[in-house]
Amino acid sequence: MDPASVTLATSPTGKQESASRLLGKTIQKLGLNHGDMLFVSYTDTEQPAAETITPETASTKTATQIRDATKQLPVDDLLEKQDGKIKRQLTALQQRKFGARGMGEDSLPVDPWDEEYLAEQKIKHMSYHAYVKKLNSQANKKNGGGYISPLNVSDFGVTKHCTGAHAPWPEGICSRCQPSAITLQPQPFRMVDHVEFAESGMINSFIEPWRQSGTQRIGWMYGHYEPYELVPLGIKAVVEAIYEPSQNGEYDGVTVTEITQGNGNDAPSHATTAEACGLVPLGVVFTDLVDSGNGDGSVICKRHADSYFLSSLEVAFAGSMQARFPNKSRWSPTSEFSSKFVTAVISGNRKGEIDVSCYQVSEQCEAMARADLIEPSINPSVLLVKEATKTRYVPDVFYKKTNEYGRAVLQGANPQLPVDYMLVTLTHGFPQDPKPLFSSGLSSFPVEHRELIGQSQTPQALGKALDSSTPAVAVSNFHLLAYVLSMGVLSKEEFDLLAKVATDKKDEDISRLVASEGWNNLLLIIQ
Ligand code: ZN
Repeated sequence: MDPASVTLATSPTGKQESASRLLGKTIQKLGLNHGDMLFVSYTDTEQPAAETITPETASTKTATQIRDATKQLPVDDLLEKQDGKIKRQLTALQQRKFGARGMGEDSLPVDPWDEEYLAEQKIKHMSYHAYVKKLNSQANKKNGGGYISPLNVSDFGVTKHCTGAHAPWPEGICSRCQPSAITLQPQPFRMVDHVEFAESGMINSFIEPWRQSGTQRIGWMYGHYEPYELVPLGIKAVVEAIYEPSQNGEYDGVTVTEITQGNGNDAPSHATTAEACGLVPLGVVFTDLVDSGNGDGSVICKRHADSYFLSSLEVAFAGSMQARFPNKSRWSPTSEFSSKFVTAVISGNRKGEIDVSCYQVSEQCEAMARADLIEPSINPSVLLVKEATKTRYVPDVFYKKTNEYGRAVLQGANPQLPVDYMLVTLTHGFPQDPKPLFSSGLSSFPVEHRELIGQSQTPQALGKALDSSTPAVAVSNFHLLAYVLSMGVLSKEEFDLLAKVATDKKDEDISRLVASEGWNNLLLIIQ
């Protein structure tokens, strides 16, 4: 048995919590009462769940190299160990049918990619791990040959280092190195299934600048990934903070003046803060809100099935952002496959309510962005396939379309490509019992770059926030942490300790922080 796979739930179909996450919590804190029944699940390592070859069991050198080089997200390591089989309750008819065959069970396990099951549960796309398992079950049967990477990364550029007898591209090209025609497919899977905002106040705070100024807003979402129980082998992105970069908001759009989001030596304060708090970049969120003028707080529904969900400009932007944040995967020959970077839009829904919608663009769209093949058009529902130049080779692009006789036909996309072909939709929501990582509340310290609505992050505002509560509660605010980092008063060790206090609130860390030189210098500055 694999100890890391042990999960507990309060009902057979209830939410499964990893046992390791429960360590150190009291019975009361877990909400358990005397007499409650617990259901334990685990993976039996002696009987491999899937009858397939994995990079571990494969003997080929390439597979071993990839395995060593690829550091996946913890959620991916966790989910790939599970088989994701769904125990379906059989109908009376099925029970008679299978019962008669001697199975004698009232449930029948189905694969996590089972189309019928997904359709029945109204799940639009299978999860990434279900997709990998489906491909792997086809590519790597146990009695087959060596290991084959189930995933393939789309590459629409001219092959580098062609062995053909010609000058390298763009001086020469041959049939071997030129990319073949592209046939776009609606993507059957999604890299992230669900976006969960750790608390609803986060969205309210984010749209505040729009409420006060009427101009649109953009932010970077930081958080972590967890398994998502409502989709077989699903993943949810849990948003713990929205950082609002320096930007110019207009009534009909927004321009980011600082686009960096990531790690490295010149990482901006928000990226370093996120890393210190154990968070990763999850995606981008922006508003597209227009007041209806009815005086009842309702907004105009601009985005719907007959217009567009993401504009061609936004699709091109999402494609380039996804290409910038690749997903690590040991199931891909390049150790990378697509991206988990999501794009969230806050706009009016059909009822005129302010609502969130979450998307990703397809892996093919990322590849087209990487090969510099697409650009937005003035029509928000149409992307343009770029024209060939001396240095840009543009293959023919096709997509499937239903013609006037109801038949599926291949339609040429040069130059016009409907954006919906590139979109994958995600669900979103808020937890029933919110436990946000940052507990101080969003009103305790101003959010960055909100001068246009008269909010500023100042030493005085920091002093006020620290006076309002105990240090551990007061500093549990992402915006405050990023501001303290940008002041440059704390050493790296002291800042990491501050981030730990903000997220873990352990007494011994608080004592060390309060006694540190940097913290006391900070208190002197803000007095
Ligand atoms: Zn060639």
